[in-house]
Amino acid sequence: MNQRKAVFLDRDGTLIVERNYLGDPARVTLLEGVPQALKRLADAGFLLVMVTNQSGVARGYFTMDDVARVNGRVAELLEREGVRLDAVYICPHHEQGSVPEYAVSCTCRKPSPGMALAAAKEWNLDLSASYMIGDKHTDVSFGRNFGARESYLVRTGHGAEAESGYYVVVARLSEAAADILRRDRENP
Ligand SMILES: [Mg+2]
Ligand SMILES: [Zn+2]
Repeated sequence: MNQRKAVFLDRDGTLIVERNYLGDPARVTLLEGVPQALKRLADAGFLLVMVTNQSGVARGYFTMDDVARVNGRVAELLEREGVRLDAVYICPHHEQGSVPEYAVSCTCRKPSPGMALAAAKEWNLDLSASYMIGDKHTDVSFGRNFGARESYLVRTGHGAEAESGYYVVVARLSEAAADILRRDRENP
């Protein structure tokens, strides 16, 4: 079976407005242009895979149920605009957390590539033909660690860090999507 391509997407600061440890679905706001850009990527055949570090769970700020509610709200707002995430992966861990169950060193917290490796297995993905879009250094490092074709740092969240050559800095997600689609057309 042919391997599929994915665009991996960070959540906070990339798809939705950064709220710092968001546990309340009422505070979910999609960033401008995100649904339209995701729709173009999906129409071009990319799976849309959200990968999110939620150490607030390990830190005791909110629960996995809260994360599910926030993610549900993200999905609801996207579906209203006609776009669906194909998969969602969550890392609730943090070594210095206060909730014993989640206060562990794991292989899924970005920049470790665990969530991409799990997605690749589950969805038969060609990771070297896949992309990563996020707003933090840990996101673009995640892309590098799973062997992404390219990683994009958006400036809509925390992403104002220095460039270092293995990723592309863009103003917002729609710019990353346009570049992915151009590259995919020129060299599928
Ligand atoms: Mg983020
Ligand atoms: Zn983890």
